[in-house]
Amino acid sequence: MTNDTMIELIGVQKSFGDFPVLKDITLNVKRGDVVALIGPSGSGKSTLLRSVNLLTVPEKGFIRVGSQAIDFSTTRNLPGDKELASFRARTGMVFQSFNLFPHMTVEQNVMEGPVTVLRTPKADAKAIAHDLLTKVGLADKATAHPDSLSGGQKQRVAIARALAMKPEVMLFDEATSALDPELVGEVLSVIRSLAAEGMTMLLVTHEMAFARDVADRVIFMRDGCVVEEGEARQVIDHPKEPATQAFLSHFH
Ligand code: ADP
Ligand code: MG
Repeated sequence: MTNDTMIELIGVQKSFGDFPVLKDITLNVKRGDVVALIGPSGSGKSTLLRSVNLLTVPEKGFIRVGSQAIDFSTTRNLPGDKELASFRARTGMVFQSFNLFPHMTVEQNVMEGPVTVLRTPKADAKAIAHDLLTKVGLADKATAHPDSLSGGQKQRVAIARALAMKPEVMLFDEATSALDPELVGEVLSVIRSLAAEGMTMLLVTHEMAFARDVADRVIFMRDGCVVEEGEARQVIDHPKEPATQAFLSHFH
């Protein structure tokens, strides 16, 4: 099975008050694919990403991650805590702000999820943390505290921490937007290596060159709608829709 869908949204709708933020979102991400979500500020990208792991609960629509699906069009009751927790465990999420636990070492940050949520024995969690910190190039920072790290290093720890939960898919919401320009590359390179390993990823980014290079597909959103989607180079180099063309013209 190389072509199965790992993330599927059908007709997802979300409003804040009277304001519709996701109007009727249908999309899917196949196993091993990297999909970049682009669009102007306020277009609903973060809300869409948060809907995939139900940090935001939509009013309507169908959402599936891996083998677990919730149909909000037929479910009048919100999912229970257990269902929510199991749904969320399928996705790892990395935010613009790193959200590391400041009082814990780097290694403890990575071990925390496996130990408290997955009940992984500490020695095993430590070994997992070591492997993941090696993968993101930070094995030598295991005993450091987050406040001694650069933004790029913090973000790489955040990625290791998300991976420690063995997610089926990874979601990145502007993971490099808060970084000084010279630190962006080290984080993108970790994401690139995850892509090469076949991790399924949906990422919101303003790094168009990266999206063009690493993403298989690009989805352009505006005003809560998917306006255009397609093969990454096709959309970025030759956008069809005037709104996509106007948006991308800011990056040249
Ligand atoms: P993007 O990530 O593309 O910038 P967002 O998904 O963050 O867009 O926001 C889309 C719209 O929804 C914006 O107008 C934003 O102000 C609004 N919004 C987002 N989250 C909330 C919330 N919790 N309460 C009210 N409005 C929100
Ligand atoms: Mg956002």
